[in-house]
Amino acid sequence: MKQQKPVIILFGPQGSGKGTQGKKLTEKLNIPYLETGQLLRNEIATGSEDGKRFASYMDKGNLVPPEDAIALMSKKITQAVSDKGGAVIDGFPRSAEQAKGFPEDINLTHVLLIDLEDKESIRRLSARRNCPKDKKIYNMITNPPKNNETCDDCGTKLVQRDDDFPKAIQQRLDVYHRDTEPLIERYKKMGLLHRINGMPSIEEVEKEIWKIFE
Ligand code: AMP
Repeated sequence: MKQQKPVIILFGPQGSGKGTQGKKLTEKLNIPYLETGQLLRNEIATGSEDGKRFASYMDKGNLVPPEDAIALMSKKITQAVSDKGGAVIDGFPRSAEQAKGFPEDINLTHVLLIDLEDKESIRRLSARRNCPKDKKIYNMITNPPKNNETCDDCGTKLVQRDDDFPKAIQQRLDVYHRDTEPLIERYKKMGLLHRINGMPSIEEVEKEIWKIFE
C-alpha cells in the first residue's frame, strides 16, 4: 500500500467545526474526506435494511453498533489510502472498541482535537440547516443563506437533520463525553494529539490547524 500523505483523525464534540475544517484540509492536502455520519446517512438514503437499522440508532443520537462502524470505515480508510495515499477521517473511531478496529496496516500520522464547550455546541447545532438536494450546510447564526431558509445554489427549502434537535443533540454530546473523549488519552500517549480551540472564527481555526502541516 502506498501511504505518502497524512492520515488524520478529527476529534471534537458535535458542532466544533470538524466537517468545515476537515473539508478545507482535504482540499489543501489533496486527500479524501471520510465523514462517518454522512456515509451512514448515505446508506439510510438507499432505503436498505442496513440503512433502516442505522436510522433507528442515529435518530435518537446513539452510535450504530461498533461492528457496523468498523466494517464500513476500515474498508473506506484502506481504499482511500491505497488510492490517494492518505485521508482525513471524521467520526471514527468513536469508542475504545472502534479504535481497536482501526486498520492495523495504516500509519496514523495526526489526531486533531477541536475543543468546544457543550453550551456552544448546542447553540451551533440548533442553528444548523442543510440543503437536502446538494447537501450544502448553513448556520442561521454564522453562515446564513441569502434568502430565508432556502439554498443559495439551488433554491431548495433548507431542513434540519433529525438528530439536530435539542434532545438528540444532548444525547450525542453525552455519548461523546462517555465513549469518545476517553480515546484522547490513548492518542496523546502515542504522541499524535494536537489540541485546537474551536471557539474562534472559521478562518482563525483554519490557520491554527494549518500551522501543524506547514
Ligand atoms: P455526526 O454527523 O458525526 O454527528 O454523526 C451522526 C450520527 O452518526 C451519530 O450520532 C451516530 O449515530 C452515527 N455515527 C457517526 N459516526 C459513528 C461511529 N464511528 N460509530 C457509530 N455511529 C456513528
